[in-house]
Amino acid sequence: MAKRRHDLYLLTPGPLTVAPEVKAEMLRDRSPNAELHRELTAGVRRYLLDLCNGAGTHECVPIQGSATYAIEAGLQTLMPRDGRLLVIQNGFYGLRLRELAEGLRLPVTALELPMLPLPTRADVEGALDADPSITHVLLCHAETGTGVLNPIEEVAAVARERGVKLLVDAVASFGGFPLDVAALDAEAVFVSPNKCLESVPGVAMVIAKRAALEGAAGRSASVVLDLHAQWQFFEEVGWWRWTPPTHVVAALARACERHREEGGTDRRHERYRRNWGRLVEGLRARGFRTLLPDDAAAPIIATFHDPDHPNYSFEALYRALERRDIVIFPGRLTATGTFRIGVMGDLVESDMDVILAAMDEALAEIGVVTARLVAGGEGAAP
Ligand SMILES: *Cc1c(COP(=O)(O)O)cnc(C)c1O
Repeated sequence: MAKRRHDLYLLTPGPLTVAPEVKAEMLRDRSPNAELHRELTAGVRRYLLDLCNGAGTHECVPIQGSATYAIEAGLQTLMPRDGRLLVIQNGFYGLRLRELAEGLRLPVTALELPMLPLPTRADVEGALDADPSITHVLLCHAETGTGVLNPIEEVAAVARERGVKLLVDAVASFGGFPLDVAALDAEAVFVSPNKCLESVPGVAMVIAKRAALEGAAGRSASVVLDLHAQWQFFEEVGWWRWTPPTHVVAALARACERHREEGGTDRRHERYRRNWGRLVEGLRARGFRTLLPDDAAAPIIATFHDPDHPNYSFEALYRALERRDIVIFPGRLTATGTFRIGVMGDLVESDMDVILAAMDEALAEIGVVTARLVAGGEGAAP
């Protein structure tokens, strides 16, 4: 029987199961004006820039709030008012990006695509051809709504050829998937601490091209979500413009150290892939089928079809797992008739065995017999 490493497993799109040493950083009070806190913030900004090869061209601007705050700050500070945004929408988070931009009253064109096939060069070229006023294109890297990993290099190549600027919601992927902002020539990338960076929520980051920030002075219609002013304050004064979540910043600094100690993005990606493989293999052996072909799936979320069993309901499975201190994604954001399990966080392969064992118990409790699933739904004893 695999040993349980955490009291509670948060197998969701974040917040995640966080390492005790990251949480422990939050037990100490720190002054935001102390030199030490300034260094923590500066260290995080530097580390995240280095992770995406942005040190020469880009700036990392942290902002208080969840990742959506950073996206809103970035969009409304960096988008010229005579620009037009093309949002590639192939899942729940793509839709959220579109709604954010529309809520900001930015001129928006949506490229609505199905979950699969993945967006192609021709899709993006077609959308740009149809509307020459488009100046920026925005898409999710890992679309957490479906578990699909979007081809950002291909979209970046089209954007570069057409002189259109690229904005990437890398909230779910940053730190777990390679991303080179210099090679992509990305105008801005949006980053969360509480996904592949494995820290706690409360702050988010925009990694923006220095030239884009310089050109954005005075554009923001918001005072607190003014990315340019926030950046300037870090540059000129060296600390946060308003009260920072000091405990959260300290946790993130520790999480960055752990990321480095693990061996960086590639090693972390490999760990997630091992977790994902173990979980998918285990549930396939129990008769479950994945929604996506393996090559289109981001190995941070596994999406399964609901079992075809009269006793099954998602709600019942969710509650039965929750009673075992295992929390899976709360709903089906994009694809109906599926359930999703995240494998980001301080998780290793043995944790997948804990989850699979809990899954067996939960299924038995709600009267869904997996042997019957394996047998194809017929004939097995109840
Ligand atoms: C989690 C997530 C977000 C942001 O969510 P917040 O609730 O603001 O932290 C945005 N995009 C993607 C793809 C995500 O997975």
